[in-house]
Amino acid sequence: MKAVVYQGPKDVVVKEVPDARVEEPTDAVVRITTTNICGSDLHMYEGRTSVEEGKVLGHENTGVVEAVGSGVSRVKVGDRVSVPFNIACGSCRNCVHGWTSFCLRMNPTEGMDGAAYGYANMGPYDGGQAEFLRVPHADFNLLDLPAGTEHENDFTMLSDIFPTGWHGVELSGMVPGDDVAVFGAGPVGLMAAHSALIKGASRVFVVDKAPDRLRLAASIGAVPVDFSAGDPVEQITEQTRGRGVDRGVEAVGYQAHDPSGEEHPELVLDNLVKVVRATGGIGVVGVYMPEDPGAANEGAKQGRIGWDYGTFFTKGQSMGTGQAPVMRYNRQLRDLIVAGRATPGFIVSHELPLEQAPEGYRNFDDRVEGWTKVLLHPGS
Ligand code: NAD
Ligand code: ZN
Repeated sequence: MKAVVYQGPKDVVVKEVPDARVEEPTDAVVRITTTNICGSDLHMYEGRTSVEEGKVLGHENTGVVEAVGSGVSRVKVGDRVSVPFNIACGSCRNCVHGWTSFCLRMNPTEGMDGAAYGYANMGPYDGGQAEFLRVPHADFNLLDLPAGTEHENDFTMLSDIFPTGWHGVELSGMVPGDDVAVFGAGPVGLMAAHSALIKGASRVFVVDKAPDRLRLAASIGAVPVDFSAGDPVEQITEQTRGRGVDRGVEAVGYQAHDPSGEEHPELVLDNLVKVVRATGGIGVVGVYMPEDPGAANEGAKQGRIGWDYGTFFTKGQSMGTGQAPVMRYNRQLRDLIVAGRATPGFIVSHELPLEQAPEGYRNFDDRVEGWTKVLLHPGS
């Protein structure tokens, strides 16, 4: 089968790899109809990780079940499904409590709980930027979608970024009527803004400097804040009569930068601590990783950062962090889409055949204007 394979920093190719197949009785194989490029793929693409050469990338997968193992009973061949990016056993302590993003069984990497497709340090699983994908514990992990092809560009957001944006808002403790500041108008930040508005926020400020992304934020009723035009904290403080916001969402991650483009991993956390009111909450879904000694790109090591914990403590704020437990939300979010109450596909900018994945990666990574969210359609 054809698949998108990581070869080294800023180098992915589409090539033939062995077919995905049922390896355990509880597996299914899904024929991929849509698979997205994610900001999380860029951590590997930019060489910030030790992901191995030859890894098939892709954790945002939607498709149709092609085959099932003898131990699969709920899921049937021909079902249209969304595949959560988390790979979970369904029966460990964390899974049972709904924290499938911290499954204790599926990731053999020491010190890391939680597994994912096509990802560094998250287990030996290949990704779905390919014609087919092997899904472990298929009865537990797969979400069924209405048959057909309707809403494909909305449903494809269910495997990761719509639940992730929703989770960021949940972690912030938002209640209806709150004002919310979302930092980052990438796909995840836009999903967080969409989620906050659906959940009844009064006003949602979205901070970025990319004009096309800020326009998308405005298109759903959020207030765009351009951090290259002035301090975003001051801009939001002014618009809230000096009060700041009740809740904040971090949707940028380690590669936060200042208007000149210089990386400052602590910048967004510091701004959130400033702009969220005392006793308010902050949800961090932008990714920060432990230092990865094997990272391909020496200059981009992660790990310890300095941020203003003193002000965070003094203001009595709370913070939630981490990879999103997709299954906690994906059923309800699917039904919001079916009911016409959620339209996460509004961020889609490009739909490409699998063969054009390298072009998609390059342009999304370079933040070329207009390349907001790239979907790949194997077999198209
Ligand atoms: P992205 O890189 O396209 O979006 C990040 C945006 O942040 C960009 O538009 C950039 O211009 C903006 N930005 C940079 N510095 C900023 C600053 N100082 N202030 C405000 N905005 C700034 O990627 P994405 O796909 O939206 O992903 C965002 C983050 O979410 C990544 O770190 C990704 O790994 C992470 N993520 C986390 C989860 C999870 O489960 N927690 C899931 C998916 C993605
Ligand atoms: Zn993703």
